Amino acid sequence: MKKRIAVLPGDGIGKEVTRGAVDVLKAIGERFGHQFYFSYGKIGGSAVDSFGTPLPDETVELCRESDAVLLGAVGGPKYDQLPVHLRPERGLLKIRKELGLYANLRPTLYYSSLAESSPLRKEIIEDVDMVMVRELTGGLYFGKPSERSTQNGQDVVVDTLFYQREEMTRVIKLAFDLARQRKGKVTSVDKANVLESSRMWREVAEEVSKAYPDVTLEHVLVDNAAMQLIKNPRKFDVVVTENMFGDILSDEASVLTGSLGMLPSASLSEKGPYLYEPIHGSAPDIEGQNVANPLASILSAAMMLRLSFGLEEEAKAVENAVNEVLNAGYRTKDISSFGKKQVSTTEMIEEVKATI
Ligand code: ATP
Ligand code: MG
Repeated sequence: MKKRIAVLPGDGIGKEVTRGAVDVLKAIGERFGHQFYFSYGKIGGSAVDSFGTPLPDETVELCRESDAVLLGAVGGPKYDQLPVHLRPERGLLKIRKELGLYANLRPTLYYSSLAESSPLRKEIIEDVDMVMVRELTGGLYFGKPSERSTQNGQDVVVDTLFYQREEMTRVIKLAFDLARQRKGKVTSVDKANVLESSRMWREVAEEVSKAYPDVTLEHVLVDNAAMQLIKNPRKFDVVVTENMFGDILSDEASVLTGSLGMLPSASLSEKGPYLYEPIHGSAPDIEGQNVANPLASILSAAMMLRLSFGLEEEAKAVENAVNEVLNAGYRTKDISSFGKKQVSTTEMIEEVKATI
């Protein structure tokens, strides 16, 4: 198989961990006989430094010509004083819009070898295996108006939660398709007892579910979902929800695994290319020290193999290699514990490559 991959390392540890994903993809290409071609582009602060904008047109072009996009992370203290339109995070929001990435998938998986890095008891998190599907391009974060004004001498403020029915349908469908390949259960999260948008969301979920008799649908109110995630996380398979609820719940779910450094994500569009990135940020506090955990980025590459290229066996090979390396006791600083072998970013990458 021949594929073109756009690589956007970005800022901070983004550069360090992305190298891991690229190296691992190369190793997979060698072992399974695929040709992966990598082209590099700039985004975020490093793009501001070279091009005076956090997302140059060249980068958008590069992504559009590629079969998949691998992103590191953007941002850093150096750029905090810039005007809003030049902030690195703008680059990220813009690339999501440009590529039409409407669904963000975050798997949360239990690693027995990492049970001690979670603040939750092993009996609760054991065997957790869920995917959160968050709507990414609508809702409260994009609705207009979003502004302040003064009415009768009082400061007032408005944000708008806006969705088209079709925007709900496509992301909920995607969740059902995903559930079909997994444990066959969709949990739709809303606040239908209060919000009109949630009543429509629930209606759409019911409608979509008619075409999936083999998938079970349950509705959970968002406040209850927040509690269930911690009390009874094993009950979830695929969770689907709107933008803001998903933003909050997916961070909460990440605690089940242990470290930010372990969690991959994929953002999907209607026609592709899809974008893959670790959920962590640029971590300026550890930049350049060769201590960052590259596994979230490496696991994002596994998601790319599976979702963009349909290479299930190759994806499994990456995930198994990560498991083996963890079981053998190798740990980067963020997941290290007594009696384990603490390794650097580059050593961890080498271990995974060697295992593949
Ligand atoms: P952003 O706004 O870009 O999301 P942030 O400050 O919210 O940034 P991160 O950059 O993800 O969050 O960093 C949060 C903490 O987690 C930092 O202390 C960082 O060092 C640590 N961290 C993040 N990613 C990793 C990683 N891959 N390996 C080790 N530690 C990490
Ligand atoms: Mg953050």
